[in-house]
Amino acid sequence: MSVLKSLIAGQWVGEKAAKALPSAINGEIVARTHDDTLDFKKAVEYGRTVGGKNLLALDFQERALALKAMALYLQEHKQELYALSMHTGSSKGDNGIDIDGGFGTLFAYASMGRRELPSGNVVHEGPVTPLGKNNHFAGTHILVPRGGVAVHIDAYNFPVWGMLEKFAPTFLAGMPCIVKPATSTCYVTELAVRLMQESGALPEGSLQLIIGSTGDLFDHLEEQDVVTFTGSAATARKLKNHPNIINRSIPFNAEADSLNSAILAPDVTPEHEEFELFVREVGREMTAKAGQKCTAIRRVLVPKSQVNAICDKLKERLSKITVGDPSVEGVRMGALASIEQLEDVKANIQELLKTSELVTGGNGDFKPTGEGTGKGAFIEPHLLLCRNPENGCGAHDIEAFGPVATVIPYDTIEDAVALCAQGRGSLVTTLTTRDPAIAGKIVPLLAAFHGRLHLLDAEAAQESTGHGSPLPMLKHGGPGRAGGGEELGGIRAVHHYLQRTAIQGSPTMLAAVTREYVRGADLIETEVHPFRRHFEELQINESLLTHRRTVTEADIVNFGCLSGDHFYMHFDEIAARDSQFGKRIAHGYFVLSAAAGLFVYPGEGPVLANYGLDTLRFIEPVAPGDTIRARLTCKRKIDQGRTSPDGHPQGVVVWDVQVHNQNDELVASYDILTLVAKKPE
Ligand code: NDP
Repeated sequence: MSVLKSLIAGQWVGEKAAKALPSAINGEIVARTHDDTLDFKKAVEYGRTVGGKNLLALDFQERALALKAMALYLQEHKQELYALSMHTGSSKGDNGIDIDGGFGTLFAYASMGRRELPSGNVVHEGPVTPLGKNNHFAGTHILVPRGGVAVHIDAYNFPVWGMLEKFAPTFLAGMPCIVKPATSTCYVTELAVRLMQESGALPEGSLQLIIGSTGDLFDHLEEQDVVTFTGSAATARKLKNHPNIINRSIPFNAEADSLNSAILAPDVTPEHEEFELFVREVGREMTAKAGQKCTAIRRVLVPKSQVNAICDKLKERLSKITVGDPSVEGVRMGALASIEQLEDVKANIQELLKTSELVTGGNGDFKPTGEGTGKGAFIEPHLLLCRNPENGCGAHDIEAFGPVATVIPYDTIEDAVALCAQGRGSLVTTLTTRDPAIAGKIVPLLAAFHGRLHLLDAEAAQESTGHGSPLPMLKHGGPGRAGGGEELGGIRAVHHYLQRTAIQGSPTMLAAVTREYVRGADLIETEVHPFRRHFEELQINESLLTHRRTVTEADIVNFGCLSGDHFYMHFDEIAARDSQFGKRIAHGYFVLSAAAGLFVYPGEGPVLANYGLDTLRFIEPVAPGDTIRARLTCKRKIDQGRTSPDGHPQGVVVWDVQVHNQNDELVASYDILTLVAKKPE
């Protein structure tokens, strides 16, 4: 029987066997934890020094590439993870959520990192705000790696996704992680960490693993460190109040149990497609991961008139779910993660039954499918009905962390919102309605106590990712009882592991710090046109002031005929005279085109393509007789390690463009995005 090992300070530690971890399917021992004492002081120091140094030897773009490499390697080895994960009670579908969902999160962060983060290790979070009259003093914000370690404590229900959804943004931010999975399913996490290490893409010290207890780890944490936690509200409260966490103001992000709802709006009745969709969503959420999802639907809020119809439909649907050994053909729902959890869920059902009645489940003749499952942690889906919630309803307080949900009737949609709020803050609610007016009115009310809201109708159902799936690009975490934390949400999650600092100084200093041109900074002007420089040669602040061009009426007429834009402001002398400008003016897009004509270098060169514009503003009108000129300045360079379709290495260069008139007034302002070739080898 294998003894699981911790990965601490670069060494796999664990010889002496400790706790036996039984399979949730048949009770056989899958692995044992180790009994060796871990040196947590050494672990945090190693993370901060070796891990931190190795991570910051790479930049955001390089770490994004490393994430992708890890994801690809893990994907190649997913069968090993599937096989082991079966012992946690997971069905094939559940593996899709935990294992493939985990890889998907790595891929998503790899791609968001490459698209949205700069080269280097400083994020400039603009805009730059002038703080003086003459632009000698300005302010902005930067985000930098915190320099500490991130301790991630995870729940037992997602041994792979739970670890990876926290690891990916932390790694991207350049912060080493120490992960502590829940003991009952930690053998799957251990394998995932081993694979990540084998991938060769994980810098030494950037990931450590704790099997078993966290011992005195919290005593060694310091101000630059971060703790995140997923699990029960009780443990969250205990850890958050650790004296060292409080005394050193160490950020603590909690994601705890939550009593999520599904609301059937009063406009949906059994003849509508949405009625069936609602039943399907509730049924799926009750049974996916055997209901062991922090996002699972626990409260089913339906109009009083639909209670019987909903209960009948759900009962019918749940009766078709085969529960048992997931390796047996036809089994749709596996086991709870452990016998302890089974006992816990059963006890909570009894508590819920004090204010509810049983609609289906628990009638004594349940037998899981498959050999040896008698010793497994199986339970059939239980649907409860709380007929009179005004007399008290346990479902607003008690979380049975299994395939258990309670139907709660309501009178008006406002009552449904009030009942939903009795959960005291949830991760997610699904509102099923056909009426946009109901959604428009109710969603802002629900949003105040939710992390996410899923609006379900026949159109959305065609592509919906479902009530229960946290997505890398959307926020996961809810207020109040849900823990008050926030995870995922795209690049926002990376920002949780970076320190935001306001910077004040001259534009030249701000440009040097942010590695971005800031208007007013000292410019670099040479004889060489910036479009003739390769990616490596270009310097931030390198600039070109063009020759001038006087705009004529012929320009306006020609541009109008070419584009087909005969808007009165350009072509109707009388209407234009009555307008706010008092005269005909040139098309804004003509000014853009004329500026490009002024600043481009027409010959062949390293600038390969212009792929867009950002932050475009037409600030002052340009009329016939006005004379314009452009200033083009290299603003930002991003090396994503990409090559052109014909194999030439290239980088992204963003140029600041300012177009002025003869009075030195800014008439147009924007960024242009280009791809610029690197020097030939
Ligand atoms: P716990 O809160 O007991 O455990 C969660 C994690 O915290 C585990 O890794 C656990 O490790 C660790 N932990 C527990 N005590 C300490 C401590 N003193 N110091 C450091 N780490 C600690 O939750 P469970 O996993 O037992 O689940 C209990 C209930 O929590 C569930 O029934 C459910 O209601 C809720 N839950 C909520 C989830 C969510 O996503 N919001 C997910 C899972 C559960 P170890 O396993 O070694 O004790």
